[in-house]
Amino acid sequence: MQALMKTAAAPGLVLQEVAEPEFGSHDVLIRIHNAAICGTDLHIYKWDAMAQSYCHPPLIIGHEFFGEIVAIGDAVQGFHLGQRVSGEAHIGCGYCRNCRSGRSHLCRVNDALGATRHGCFAEYLALPAGNVCALPDAISNETGAILDPLGNATHTALQFNLVGEDVLITGAGPVGLMAAAIARHVGARYVVISDISPYRLALAREMGHATLALDLRTANLPDAMKQLGMREGFDVGLEMSGSADAINQMIAHMNHAGRIALLGFLPVTTQIDWSRVIFKGLQLQGIYGRQMFETWYKMVSMLQSGLNVSKVITHQFHFTEFEKAFALGISGQSGKILLRWQ
Ligand SMILES: [Zn+2]
Ligand SMILES: [Zn+2]
Repeated sequence: MQALMKTAAAPGLVLQEVAEPEFGSHDVLIRIHNAAICGTDLHIYKWDAMAQSYCHPPLIIGHEFFGEIVAIGDAVQGFHLGQRVSGEAHIGCGYCRNCRSGRSHLCRVNDALGATRHGCFAEYLALPAGNVCALPDAISNETGAILDPLGNATHTALQFNLVGEDVLITGAGPVGLMAAAIARHVGARYVVISDISPYRLALAREMGHATLALDLRTANLPDAMKQLGMREGFDVGLEMSGSADAINQMIAHMNHAGRIALLGFLPVTTQIDWSRVIFKGLQLQGIYGRQMFETWYKMVSMLQSGLNVSKVITHQFHFTEFEKAFALGISGQSGKILLRWQ
């Protein structure tokens, strides 16, 4: 089969012919239809320090996919050939304290598709059946390929109750944009999203879920709050930018007793004004991956009940055009980019 691989500890990727994956008695074999490019894939492509810390070539990369089941291991029950599926990219060990307590997204030895084991940028993927998620017909083949990042958005946005709350989302990348859609779907009052990328703010406005999309180079949060008639501050913050400046602006404009969910990777040099966190009684919660499998249940249900994030997919390429797709991803002038594998 054709697969997109990291073949050496250096920048770039290679499309090459490899053997179809072997699958065990507890696995299913999935024919990939669409796969989506994630920030993680861009890190691996560029071969930056973060990617070097966990990725050991040779490796088929990619972890966001939609496909159909074409073979089923002997011990697997509950799936059928031709079934439309996506799947969870994090594979827990099954034996540690968190795995055994239903928190396998916090497994200490998590295996990850396309990062520590072969991923989905290929014609076929073998995946443990426990990680496979069958999709209802209401979810399109395209949206089916972005459930991994939609799951990040869902896990973060549903960390705190948003009903009737004023929500600040810092970072209008694909996950921030989808978090805005979820906040709107579940009944937030105001949803303010901020970024410094004109492309992404334009996409936020086009998607139409945010009350305001703020360019922090020319606008500021006090003016936005005044415009909305907000007197006290934001109730919930969703930090999705990984920007030290953004998290400090967020902390400064939270209401007392505000709650912040942190998804973006902040640089280790980030300085936080801790006195504000303490005096305001803020709650800060780190978010990793997707809850297995409560997040999957919730996002599928929300997609069936009117949540629509399809506009976050802005580009599609055939997998042979991967160089073009990755260059576009690195440019930042896109939402989600799909690779077609059929
Ligand atoms: Zn991803
Ligand atoms: Zn574990």
